[in-house]
Amino acid sequence: MNRPGDVTLCQPDNDRGCSVCCGLFNFMDCTRENLSAFLQGGSSRAGDYAVYEDFRLDAAVRDPFTHICPYQGFISAGKPGCHIHPLSSGSEGRERSLFSSKICSGFLCPAHKILTPGEKETLVEHVKDWYLYSVAICDPESFSFLQSHITDTYRIKPHDPETGILLNTGLAAHAGLLAQSSGVIFYYSQPEYNLHKGEFCVRYNMKNREPVVEGIRKRADHLISPR
Ligand code: SF4
Repeated sequence: MNRPGDVTLCQPDNDRGCSVCCGLFNFMDCTRENLSAFLQGGSSRAGDYAVYEDFRLDAAVRDPFTHICPYQGFISAGKPGCHIHPLSSGSEGRERSLFSSKICSGFLCPAHKILTPGEKETLVEHVKDWYLYSVAICDPESFSFLQSHITDTYRIKPHDPETGILLNTGLAAHAGLLAQSSGVIFYYSQPEYNLHKGEFCVRYNMKNREPVVEGIRKRADHLISPR
């Protein structure tokens, strides 16, 4: 789904990483605190569970038909990833996961197709925090909307530092709204995402858009002089 030269969003650099398609945002409690605590436990789960079926999850989930892989975790400080992937552990261990190496290696989430090459660049450039980065991956059209809204409204360019500050402000506000909701947040295919994005995406959902845009406006008031 990526075009030649496109950024692959999964592990784009030494600091950024993602494990959203490992089911991270399937937790009903998808607050930063809860997901951080789960990711902190990844290395011990990778040692404890010889096969995926050994893992039993007691937590409430958003979609009972979507798995939460026990082997995801922080592979370095603030960098979600897979503890049994050869690039983190040095050997192929994904055969003991539910999807095994073949499906894991071949999958790219809808964000890869939905975001333009330029939007992928600004996402990687500006969004350093793993939680906000994950929210942008879950809901790429919200990221895309936020970038256009910020650059058009405040007449700044995608690579300006102010754009980064306002993008992170908007993503943080959106993350808070997603955490308060009870519906599915991440979809594995673009048709599924398209079917449900109106329930949460700020491009379409005015109830979500208004507080997010208002939060950006307040931040911009202190950041940008009138141009
Ligand atoms: S959710 Fe997307 S960006 Fe994240 S690891 Fe999966 S395919 Fe990569």
